[in-house]
Amino acid sequence: MPSEHFDALIVGAGFAGIGAAIQLKRMGYQNFVILDREDDLGGTWYVNHYPGLAVDVPTTTYSYFFEPNPNWSRLFSTGTEIKRYADDVADKYDVRRHIRFNTTVEGARWDEDASLWRVNVADGPELTAQFLFTATGFLSQPKLPDIPGIADFAGKVVHTTDWDDTYDPTGERIAVIGTGATAVQLIPELARTAADLTVYQRTPIWVAPKLDFPISDRTKRLFARLPWTQRIVRAITDTIYEAMINVGVVHYRVPLFRRLNISAMDLCKINQFIQVRDKELRRRLTPDYDIGCKRPTFSNSYFRTFTKPHVHLQSDGIDHVTADGIVNADGTTTAIDTLVLATGFDLWEANFPAIEVIGRDGRNLGKWWRENRFCAYQGVSMPGFPNYLSLASPYAFLGLNFFNTMEYQMRLMDRLFGELQHRGAATFEVTEQANAAYLDRMTELLGDSLWTLGNCAGSRSYYFNPHGEPSLLRPMSTQDAIEEASTFPLTDYQLT
Ligand code: NAP
Repeated sequence: MPSEHFDALIVGAGFAGIGAAIQLKRMGYQNFVILDREDDLGGTWYVNHYPGLAVDVPTTTYSYFFEPNPNWSRLFSTGTEIKRYADDVADKYDVRRHIRFNTTVEGARWDEDASLWRVNVADGPELTAQFLFTATGFLSQPKLPDIPGIADFAGKVVHTTDWDDTYDPTGERIAVIGTGATAVQLIPELARTAADLTVYQRTPIWVAPKLDFPISDRTKRLFARLPWTQRIVRAITDTIYEAMINVGVVHYRVPLFRRLNISAMDLCKINQFIQVRDKELRRRLTPDYDIGCKRPTFSNSYFRTFTKPHVHLQSDGIDHVTADGIVNADGTTTAIDTLVLATGFDLWEANFPAIEVIGRDGRNLGKWWRENRFCAYQGVSMPGFPNYLSLASPYAFLGLNFFNTMEYQMRLMDRLFGELQHRGAATFEVTEQANAAYLDRMTELLGDSLWTLGNCAGSRSYYFNPHGEPSLLRPMSTQDAIEEASTFPLTDYQLT
């Protein structure tokens, strides 16, 4: 039976996949499919629904440039609202009918003779497509800790990406492993009703105050009637977030900016001081690496939670897990009913790439990245992989706001596919030289960054790959990335 064929195939129906689909439609493509392993769209905002889930970027900024939402209920909206925004955008741009849910993509192989991608799907026939997009996100493969005895635990074990909405923490003895951005949101919620809560912290996190407030109905009406008013607010929140990453992290070499980075840490310490009077507890909660080495977060309640009598901070580590609790490294034991794994995601091993991708001459993307260096030209293209854009790549993510990344990637698609259509070409492939030059430039830019010059040794940050290079984030401003995506030399791609 011949394979079902599409002009384009997108893996992932989160905000990246939806954005790529909208861009394809703008460029005149209708014959495309989006495959997603989940049974609904929204990616991370569908999968994550733990208590306390909210965005830690102001929602005026956390949305597509072209699709402002006047209806956000507060500055830092909840996960439920963001999922609704994903639904609304997908419906408005008629993307939903292109999505096939419960469809797990296992791998894709470039067929040189037929000039197309052959895509393998679990329990389904092969699909083919002229263009392949992986929009699999950066934080999509949950990391399960390899702690001795964890399989023997008789109570409930739950990873934050697999939250059981029927679970009632009331009266429970709970342990949470991890103190990343997820845990910072979840811990105050669990502490409300749990009988006992022990938090296992390996690396403390910088937590700044969260300036959050509801958006009044009057303001929503204003945003709806005069969209430019919301654009002004967005310009302000965009600028603040851009400054945070560019001033405090990307251009860390500048002495004044280094000073500002220190001020950001001081702000977090003040946030801690207001909430915690116990000096020793504050010391244990304070990171020993510079802010920005790993993703900081915002909360007005996280630190205070540790002052409650039934909440305990355990920072000596875990020796092993037993059927009814945890034996701590200091020899004490913690009896628990539920073990919550807020242990984050496997970025480098399981996610780059999230599926097996075999390009020209059998080049295996995962192996190629590991045997050479992690890199993707303009955050999307690799030589040897024709007609393929990997939207979740090394040097792709602009830092704090995912939609900025999506914006430049959509503009790059516009320029690249526009030229392809203009020339009547069928394939594109970035040249080895352009890719190498881009990698050299990223390496040079990183030389000025906090990740190179700052104190990141103790941060255990997923910004760094297993070789120790900070190759996750694209070290430049959103404006520069958008400019590059709109003006890159077309000769950087070979069009045939
Ligand atoms: P994370 O930042 O990777 O944090 C995972 C935590 O688990 C870390 O504290 C880590 O400690 C700990 N951990 C992992 N394995 C462990 C082990 N074997 N033993 C002890 N501790 C272990 O993951 P996350 O909190 O899920 O957040 C991931 C990202 O999601 C964030 O950085 C952020 O970008 C995003 N996020 C965003 C929002 C939002 O509002 N937009 C909300 C939540 C999350 P170490 O640090 O020592 O490894």
